[in-house]
Amino acid sequence: MAGSYEDRDGKIWMDGELIDWRDAKVHVLTHALHYASAVFEGERCYDGKIFKGHEHSKRLLKSGELIDMEIPWTAEQIDAAKREVLDANGFTNAYIRALAFRGAGPDMGVAASHNPVRLAICTWEWGSYYGDAKWQGAKLDIAKWKRPSPETIPAAAKAAGLYMICTMSKHAAEKKGCSDALFMDYRGYVAEATGANVFFVKDGEVHTPLADVFLNGLTRQTIIAMLKEQGVPVHERHILPEEIGGFQECFLTGSAAEVTPVAQIGEDWHFQVGATTRKIAEDYDALVRA
Ligand code: PMP
Repeated sequence: MAGSYEDRDGKIWMDGELIDWRDAKVHVLTHALHYASAVFEGERCYDGKIFKGHEHSKRLLKSGELIDMEIPWTAEQIDAAKREVLDANGFTNAYIRALAFRGAGPDMGVAASHNPVRLAICTWEWGSYYGDAKWQGAKLDIAKWKRPSPETIPAAAKAAGLYMICTMSKHAAEKKGCSDALFMDYRGYVAEATGANVFFVKDGEVHTPLADVFLNGLTRQTIIAMLKEQGVPVHERHILPEEIGGFQECFLTGSAAEVTPVAQIGEDWHFQVGATTRKIAEDYDALVRA
């Protein structure tokens, strides 16, 4: 087991200043720990440039708005803070995690409008999110939990509360030797993985679930635009699990996951790590470093 993330050298940006990594602590009565009042971003810096950094900063603010938590920083200030923390740690190729959360304050009940909204930005060097699966193809379990209705929770926010079932589903998947789990949504349509969007390929055309109840990933949007530019037909639509067997290729997309091929879903569905997926993965790698 690698060491704890708490115990590292380096700097973390917290509430406007760079502090020593080991000092980036919160009190146990931090509201977010009890009630999931937190939103976050995951992004990557490639050769010194943060891919879609400003879009991620704006999405963080949007997620805050969606959970009724106004973040007291502008997107430009968040961009600058990310740059500062990368430079302070001397990283040019790294993952960046921004986290906005309700801290400790006068409120300890569910309502917390008087507690400060805090912002922390951390960065670390992180290789392939799915390890070897990046090349061999990931094996996905089918999650027993469903992505919830947007009438149940603000499903478009990248908010901590939405990840409770992701952690549970990924634990169950790992126990079965899978890299991740694929969720259906509350209506029964194919949705997404626990931290990545899903795409399928059939006869040179690409199909991906309509992002109407889950995070419309920035990588997902990038891949769709890239494919359309190349003249590859892309169908964003509701996909039923019964259709999965008819697809030839499958891959996941995300800022951490990048483009990761999928070799198997559940017990029955197998995919080749085919030419279309390989090309998309290569084109994405080129784009993020362009
Ligand atoms: N869905 C979920 C649940 C995620 O956590 C992520 C990663 N942020 C994605 C999709 C992909 O989003 P993006 O491409 O913006 O990283």
